[in-house]
Amino acid sequence: MAPNTEEYDRSIRLLKNALPLMGNLNIPTIPQNFAVWYEYASGDSALLNSEIDQMLIDNIPFTPAINQELYLKHIETQCTEALENTQQEIRQVINFLINKIKEMYHGVKKYTGVLDHCQESLSSTADTQILSDLVTNLIDETTAAKNSNEEMANSLNSMNRVVKSLKSDIKSLNNAAMVDALTNIANRRAFDTELASLTAKFATSNTLFSLLMIDIDHFKQFNDTFGHTVGDKVLKFVAKILTESVKGRDVVARYGGEEFAILLPKTNHENAMLVAQAICRTIEKKQFKQSKQAVKIGNITVSIGVSVVQTGCENCIIEHSDEALYKAKNNGRNQVAGYTG
Ligand code: GH3
Ligand code: MG
Ligand code: MG
Repeated sequence: MAPNTEEYDRSIRLLKNALPLMGNLNIPTIPQNFAVWYEYASGDSALLNSEIDQMLIDNIPFTPAINQELYLKHIETQCTEALENTQQEIRQVINFLINKIKEMYHGVKKYTGVLDHCQESLSSTADTQILSDLVTNLIDETTAAKNSNEEMANSLNSMNRVVKSLKSDIKSLNNAAMVDALTNIANRRAFDTELASLTAKFATSNTLFSLLMIDIDHFKQFNDTFGHTVGDKVLKFVAKILTESVKGRDVVARYGGEEFAILLPKTNHENAMLVAQAICRTIEKKQFKQSKQAVKIGNITVSIGVSVVQTGCENCIIEHSDEALYKAKNNGRNQVAGYTG
């Protein structure tokens, strides 16, 4: 395999970036730390990078406890068994990679040493036999160094392929862990992650966001009348309308049972109310079609509670939207209520 592939260049570049950073910060090159800093150098994880960048600005020392925390939080966050196995494999690959790097450094050092020695001898002698020996020696060492570099390049190339496929495995496992199987929208776990990230952004840069809590009206009665299978179809139907009603940056999630939540980044209370009202009207108007069902199924309606994140009570948004939702239910359902504090 030719050593000058894009993958090879990329991995060398990442290694060249990651290793000196770790050296400067006195971070031991154990596989766990290496995984963190390789990821940092790749820039693939915005969260990891912003956290480390902030620590660098604040001059926070990378103690073993902090290194461990970074690893657990950003590299080993998923806990499904499959993911554990995959990460085990990644750890092995990284270990192997580190040993290879050590070998390569060692090889280059030895080769440089031979060149230095040759140069010294050349400048101090005119003996043709010695010169000839030196040239032979140099050719042998050059061949050895070349072979070891090629071997290194091949190893890196094949490791890159393994890492790439492991990364894509992790991606699909992550996706599966973040998506609700019935409705195919974000699940509670994904919602919690997104809410934490928006709350952190609000704390650091005051970027607003709003939360809609949406609950299907009289769903129990609906389930009891038509059965759970039809009930499940209604959940899919509502999830689809919700997804179609918002912009790409908004996060529509199944919060639990027949409750949904929508996070609206950079949206104030007034605009969140408008989005909620539009959703309420759309669902009310849309006919839920159940072809095999002879009985006429009534229109589905939802109640929605709205609130915007508040300074001084950053973690109250769920409670506030819930309170507003309760108000919408009490006021007669099929309507929107905003949190008034
Ligand atoms: P309200 O208007 O006050 O919200 O009344 P409701 O009947 O919708 O509320 P309640 O909390 O009493 O009942 C919710 C029902 O949602 C109970 C349960 O049977 C149903 N449900 C929850 N999860 C699922 C699900 O995954 N599939 C189906 N088919 N039904 C579900
Ligand atoms: Mg409910
Ligand atoms: Mg309900």
